Amino acid sequence: MGPGEVVILNPHGFCAGVTGALRKALSLLGDPSRNPAVPVYCLHEIVHNEIVVGALRDRGMVFTDSLSGVPEGLTVLFSAHGVGPAVRREAAMRRLRVVDATCPFVTRVHTAARSFASRGLPVVVIGHAAHAEVRGILGEIEDVAGSAAVVSSPDDCSTPPLDGWGRIGVVSQTTMNSDDVRSIVEELGRRHAVETTAETCRATKERQDAARAFDGDALLVLGSANSSNTRRLCEVARTPRVFRAAAIEEVRAIDFSDVRRLGVTSGASTPEDFFNEVVTFLRGGAK
Ligand code: SF4
Repeated sequence: MGPGEVVILNPHGFCAGVTGALRKALSLLGDPSRNPAVPVYCLHEIVHNEIVVGALRDRGMVFTDSLSGVPEGLTVLFSAHGVGPAVRREAAMRRLRVVDATCPFVTRVHTAARSFASRGLPVVVIGHAAHAEVRGILGEIEDVAGSAAVVSSPDDCSTPPLDGWGRIGVVSQTTMNSDDVRSIVEELGRRHAVETTAETCRATKERQDAARAFDGDALLVLGSANSSNTRRLCEVARTPRVFRAAAIEEVRAIDFSDVRRLGVTSGASTPEDFFNEVVTFLRGGAK
């Protein structure tokens, strides 16, 4: 059973960084001079969405977590999340043809982290240590022999090695919860002299602000479980109930019958075709 009313939250869906990365991927795959028997490689998932990754895989893109899987001389695309300098050097050594789809906002974080570390400041990265974007930022700090720590909550701010540091530089993964970034920077400011560029990117913040502002009965967030910005949308919602779905079958399995006003939004890597399919389904099922 569908909800009573379906409200589309804006902005939602693809951000400029994802659009740019996909344009590069499609242009490589559609290059008329390309031998279709030779795959185009992409280091990591180009964006964290299984529909997007599946469609590119069907067109001949091979996703790999390591450059060692890419035969010498072939083309490799770096995902929107960015890579550290050691990865770039490895690609050059192996004579790979690199196409870089790193989002410019991620590049800005790399530059800030490197600059702090080059000046001798230990760098606090607000983010999730296992995320590809954070690994790339840490690679930048390692490259200039800097010190770094990753924190994801104010509680992490009093743990080693941070407790022994004085002046610090602070940067943030671009897709963090903007409220968390603010409270972590405040907590760090109580303990250290802080130089910071930490903030979520504008696209992430605008999508989060729209989710926070929605005051219906429930919010449906469309996007993949491994998408950081999608998960943050679920966290910041203030509705009594929040659902997340990555496929139409998952939406069909949710009982919306007692939801009077349902908001629908999507992560920055979720395709609009899928979003529209879901809204059509929900409105068709609404009484
Ligand atoms: S979410 Fe922000 S940082 Fe990530 S690709 Fe989009 S614009 Fe770039």
